[in-house]
Amino acid sequence: MLKSSTMKIDVLTLFPEMFKGPFDQSIIQRAQEKKLVKIQIHNLRKWTEDKRKTVDGRPFGGGVGMVLMIEPIYKALKELKNKKTKVILLDPRGQVFNQKTANKWACFDHLIFICGHYEGVDERVKENLIDETVSIGDYVLTGGELPAMIIIDTVLRQIPGVLGKKEAAQKESFSENLGQNLLEYPQYTRPSDFKGWKVPEVLLSGNHQEIKKWQAKKSAEITEKVKSSKEEK
Ligand code: SAM
Repeated sequence: MLKSSTMKIDVLTLFPEMFKGPFDQSIIQRAQEKKLVKIQIHNLRKWTEDKRKTVDGRPFGGGVGMVLMIEPIYKALKELKNKKTKVILLDPRGQVFNQKTANKWACFDHLIFICGHYEGVDERVKENLIDETVSIGDYVLTGGELPAMIIIDTVLRQIPGVLGKKEAAQKESFSENLGQNLLEYPQYTRPSDFKGWKVPEVLLSGNHQEIKKWQAKKSAEITEKVKSSKEEK
């Protein structure tokens, strides 16, 4: 089935204010203005019924901190989900997010992100209510808000029309334009000599064939260097 022209993204969070700023600037703002995406940030407390708008509880079995309750999340999903929705839980125990995942998710009509906080989310959410669990790396952040922003930014860049024609044709790291899994070659701008630190001669030569050769060589070198430094760690 073809993706409809406006992607919908809903975010469930206890801290909606955090999204102001990052989502009101630059490419994410432009994507919304062009109606290529409709992003809605929801406060999970909207789906509570008690006076204190309780969204968390102490963990069964003991332990420090609080755990996000399943009920508000269940109710939110019931209201927001449709047949085409993909529900994603941010969790450091999830599959680590990468460019391939971003490319895949950019083809979906509707994504819902659930941001955990405190000690995390009642495991029954993961067991019963979501499609994927995703992490942005092997470290623990305070909440799922920053990971959600990072993922949404990366996904939106893959939606046709979000980037300008020139930006979209760029040979960025991990992009198909550059070649799968390659990292970008170094870029320089004016001045060509800053305190004796010079830009490589070839880039000033005007010889496009030689420049392309140099860029491909540097790209391969950097990719190899990063790969082996990762293997060493
Ligand atoms: N107790 C959890 C653990 O040990 O795995 C960590 C909870 S963390 C303090 C609170 C929330 O932040 C998580 O539920 C998740 O939504 C989000 N979070 C933290 N680190 C993350 C990461 N690396 N990737 C994605 N989400 C993360």
